[in-house]
Amino acid sequence: MTDFSGKSGLIVGVANKRSIAWAIAQATARRGARLALTYQGRFEDHVRELSEGLDPSPLVLPCDVTSDAEIADVFTRVEQEFGGLDFLVHGAAFAPREELEASFLNTSRNGFRTTLDISAYSLVALARGAAPLMDKRGGGSILTLSYLGSQRVVPGYHVMGVAKAALEATVRYLAADVGPRNIRVNAVSAGPIKTLAAAGIKGFSNILHIYPERAPLRRNVETAEVAETAAFLLSDAGKGVTGEVIFVDAGYHAIGV
Ligand code: NAD
Repeated sequence: MTDFSGKSGLIVGVANKRSIAWAIAQATARRGARLALTYQGRFEDHVRELSEGLDPSPLVLPCDVTSDAEIADVFTRVEQEFGGLDFLVHGAAFAPREELEASFLNTSRNGFRTTLDISAYSLVALARGAAPLMDKRGGGSILTLSYLGSQRVVPGYHVMGVAKAALEATVRYLAADVGPRNIRVNAVSAGPIKTLAAAGIKGFSNILHIYPERAPLRRNVETAEVAETAAFLLSDAGKGVTGEVIFVDAGYHAIGV
């Protein structure tokens, strides 16, 4: 049921080999998916180098998610190459460093706008580009990545927590909108993983230490575990699931104190 033979997917959010989106690319390619990977400007070399390890070789395209023109170009190229689209992975997130360092009370208007634009609105923009291509396949699956900081206060997560709350609400509204077209929209809420994005969170190493002490499974999660649940949601195995946020966090979210 998690077979991706004959399916094509677009993956946004690979920066390097630690990226969660890269693990999802590997998990779906291994099961037969043809992929298009996008990169944000400075990561081009990394993404091209990684893509050489995938078979079949993916389409590699630039995409800054703040640019409607770049998003439009991506879907034009994907349509030319694949004719349609079966799944989309949204793994882009960003908050200006100063917003994660100052107190939340001092979040600036610009910092708030940038964080919500890149980390939440971009899911709407990408879903809008993907939906007509998914229609050509009779439906599709869209997946984004969230974190517990959307629902609870996690020290240092600040405006990114607000963006993840918006992102999770976006998952539900999109799911309702595109569900009649047999397009599903879900999120995986991952436990903490040492990636480039995580390095920007002040106190992240503390968070990494707390999970093995308190999470029901008494450990942190591995990127590959997040990717396996992502593959489930992206594949026909998850075809009854939409509008959902699934935690892959060793159970930490279930703990009160
Ligand atoms: P990462 O740094 O590898 O990925 C973040 C990606 O966002 C990068 O590829 C970067 O290029 C992209 N990005 C940022 N601004 C962009 C823009 N303007 N246009 C296009 N792309 C842009 O880190 P990651 O941890 O793999 O992050 C992937 C997702 O997983 C993010 O949404 C993150 O919030 C989420 N997440 C991460 C963790 C964790 O602990 N690492 C936990 C839960 C959720």
